[in-house]
Amino acid sequence: MGSSCQSAARTMADVIARRPVLEPVLRTFEPLLEARDGLVSRLAEEIRTTGFHLPAFQRERAVSGVPLMADMPVTGLAPAMRHAAEIMLPLLFAQQVVAPHAAALEEFFLRSVEEGKADARENLAEAMLNGSTEAFAGIADRSGIPPEVLAFAADFVVSPVLRALVWQGVSEEEDFPWEEEGVWREGYCPVCGTFPSIAWLDRPSLDEKNAYLSGGGGKKHLHCSLCGSNWKFRRGVCPSCGKEGDGVMEILRESSGARGERLDWCTQCKSYCPTVDLREREGIPHMDAMAMGMMHLDMVASHRKLRPLKPSFWNMF
Ligand SMILES: [Zn+2]
Ligand SMILES: [Zn+2]
Repeated sequence: MGSSCQSAARTMADVIARRPVLEPVLRTFEPLLEARDGLVSRLAEEIRTTGFHLPAFQRERAVSGVPLMADMPVTGLAPAMRHAAEIMLPLLFAQQVVAPHAAALEEFFLRSVEEGKADARENLAEAMLNGSTEAFAGIADRSGIPPEVLAFAADFVVSPVLRALVWQGVSEEEDFPWEEEGVWREGYCPVCGTFPSIAWLDRPSLDEKNAYLSGGGGKKHLHCSLCGSNWKFRRGVCPSCGKEGDGVMEILRESSGARGERLDWCTQCKSYCPTVDLREREGIPHMDAMAMGMMHLDMVASHRKLRPLKPSFWNMF
């Protein structure tokens, strides 16, 4: 989405102006999103000095559906995770569910890094990247933190580190290699393997030099809220179960004033993903803030017994 997208604060202000009822909850998350965005470039610089970098992109692996960070050695990430925790934990402690576990979280994330020793923070990052719920539960148990609290905090500590890795690994001007047509066809993230928190449909693009429309718009992109990546996805296909065809994907939206905000849900597996059609609004919203700003639709989905493609703290009712 690059630099042209709105700040989290701006997108949240837009949402609050239209849906004041969401103000209290969005206000508590605004500092978290803003701090995370602010951390990414600093962490990228720090990670660069350690020599740690993204694994090289391999087309064949991507074509067969293996995310870039699958099997990535995480040894060496602990200092960046500690740095991220120093900034993010005090903000997380403002959350009611997190506050009672402040001491245990500090003990876990802020302990000093011991060279050559196995690091629980790195094990945690590994468990998240491999989607290993068993390993994750074991870490939570040993550190005395309820798994759902650790998951919530870990998202905000690991996320800026992964975003920094992506940010320093690929230059802004180039297209990401996984964006090349036909390379990545999965509903989960090509970089970290997580399911998307939100989807967006793009606008028609104007070729600046030749002044003609080079793309008709309406292409679907999925957004990963963990590592910040975006990737193209076929519109008629379910990102969760992979089924496609007439009547597989349905749209749920408010009858008026939706401004392109809707849920795309699958009639086969009943999963849904919030989606924003940029052709129906101005500007490019901050996608992580936008996903939170659509929680009124998460409630509608919950009543209809649909399940979120990416469970988040605000859609687990
Ligand atoms: Zn990702
Ligand atoms: Zn499905």
